[in-house]
Formats: sequence, C-alpha cells, structure tokens
Amino acid sequence: MRFATLTAAALALSSAAAVAQDYPTGPITIVVPFSAGGPTDTVTRLVAEPMSKTLGQQIVVQNVGGAGGTLGATQVAKAAPDGYTLLLHHIGMSTAPSLYPDLAFDPAADFAPIGLVTSVPMTIIARKDFPPNTLEELIAYVKENADTVTYANAGIGAASHLCGMLFMSAIDVELVTVPYQGTGPAMTDLIGGQVDFMCDQTTNTTGQIHGGEVKAYAVTSPERLDSLPDLPTTAEAGLPDFTLGIWHGLYAPAGTPQEALDKLNAALKTAVADPNVATRFAKLGTAPATAEEATPEALATTLTEQIALWKPLIEAAGAKAQ
Ligand code: ASP
Repeated sequence: MRFATLTAAALALSSAAAVAQDYPTGPITIVVPFSAGGPTDTVTRLVAEPMSKTLGQQIVVQNVGGAGGTLGATQVAKAAPDGYTLLLHHIGMSTAPSLYPDLAFDPAADFAPIGLVTSVPMTIIARKDFPPNTLEELIAYVKENADTVTYANAGIGAASHLCGMLFMSAIDVELVTVPYQGTGPAMTDLIGGQVDFMCDQTTNTTGQIHGGEVKAYAVTSPERLDSLPDLPTTAEAGLPDFTLGIWHGLYAPAGTPQEALDKLNAALKTAVADPNVATRFAKLGTAPATAEEATPEALATTLTEQIALWKPLIEAAGAKAQ
C-alpha cells in the first residue's frame, strides 16, 4: 500500500515535470490591471509580441482594471500556478499593501517574480485650454481654485494617484480627484475637457503632447527626455524634490513550476534586448530593463525595497483606500 502510494506520487511528479518541460503548449494570458490603451497596456503589448515569438505561443493581453490595479493583481494571485496566467503590474504592487487595509493578496508571498520590464517617467499635463501655462502658474492656479479644479487618476495605488498625492502634498493642497479604471480613458476625458489635469506616464502622454492635444508642464525624471526635449523637469520648473519613476514587473502566481518561470524569464530577457523594442520604448521616453534588471532577483529586491520606501510616505500623506 505504502509502495503504491509512493508510486502514484512519483508518477504524478514525473508527469508534472513532463508538462513543465513541454511548456508552453497553449496561449498565455498576461493580465494588465488597468484599461486598454493606457500606459501599462502599452508596455505589456510592446514586450508581449517578442516574448510570444520566443515562446512559440500566442500571448493574450487581458485588461482587468479597477481599484488602482488591485483587482487584476488579485485575479492573478488566485489563478492556477501553471505559467499560463501572468501579471504585468507597476509600482502599484509595492504601494497597495500600505493603501489597502483589506488587500486580498500579498505581493511578495503570492507571486513568483519573473523580472523587471521598464521604468517610465511621468508628465504633469492638462486639458489644452486649462489656463496655467507653466508649472509655477499651475501651482498658483490649483491653490487658488482648489475647490473646483479636478485631477484625474487611475484609482488609489495607480501611478497617477501616487504622482498626484506627491504633488498635492508638495504644494500642500487637497484636490477633487476623478478615478478611472486606467489613464487610457482618463486621457480621453482630459482631451475632451471633462477633467482639468493629471500626471501620467510618458508611454501614454508623449504622442498627445507632440500632437498638441494636451498641455504639458513638466517631466518627473531627474533629467530632460530626448523624446520631449523642451519639457522642463519638475526640479527645473519649481518642485526641487519631486522625481518619480514608475517601474514595471512581470509576475506569475506563486507555485508556478521553475521550468516555466525559467522559460518566461528567458523570453523576457530576449524581448528587452530586442533593438526594435528599445526603439519603440525610446520614442515613448523610456528604455527596456537591462539584462541584470530583467531577473527574478532584481524584481524581488525592487519590490521589497519599494514596499519599505512607500509605507512611511503614504502614511505621511494620509492616503488610504476605504
Ligand atoms: N498604469 C495605469 C494605466 O495603465 C495608469 C496609472 O497607473 O496611473 O492606466
């Protein structure tokens, strides 16, 4: 009996190993925890295409927006750990534990990191007929009109929420925020004049800034960007301590077989080393992760460090989801 049990267990193990060796045998889904057409969606599609070629399988991008990215992340935390459901999420993975008292997942324990993907600067932008023309004027204007000015974001924990939170605390003002499931739809409303301003990643704003569809005040990187050379940095424009880079990582549910994680990591590494990917990222003001960054270790370290970094900042800003 004991022998029979052991044999069954051994068989189960060897068939799991065979399944992992054959991986992937079908399409892979990457959940983007924000709306289609937004910055996380753009980053995901840029790396999914070359990853799909390396893996020899289709990659389906599924947008699960809501609650600042926590709904999509929860879905992947609870998905089967078989390598067929992944999550591409940004800095929000590290801020969610401090912002959501009832968070349904643990970013470190419930996920297997695959690698960092990119880090994207943000831009402070407004509808094109918004009166202020410089960051200095914007600060003065929102202070004077704090009751009526509206700030768009992608929900508590989104990059746009963090940037707005830092901006409001830097200038000591509280504004009315309008949450969306992603900054894709927020951008549509900003262009349509339904909201006044927002802070969003260059992957979603560079085209609209160049096209004159929105007014831009500053970029949150320490240096100006080649893709937006006329746009001052936040430091140059009047907020000396204000810089923000939005890092993105690729994750699988914890318990995903190592063979699958290794293949996914190899595919990610190939994608970020692809010169076409670098060119497309550069046009959007960013660069893909380096070979050292596109590793499970680098993502795990970044996640741990960023959880520790954001906790006191979020507490100081008094931000919390209900
Ligand atoms: N990354 C979000 C999106 O893709 C926006 C945000 O985090 O602010 O819509």
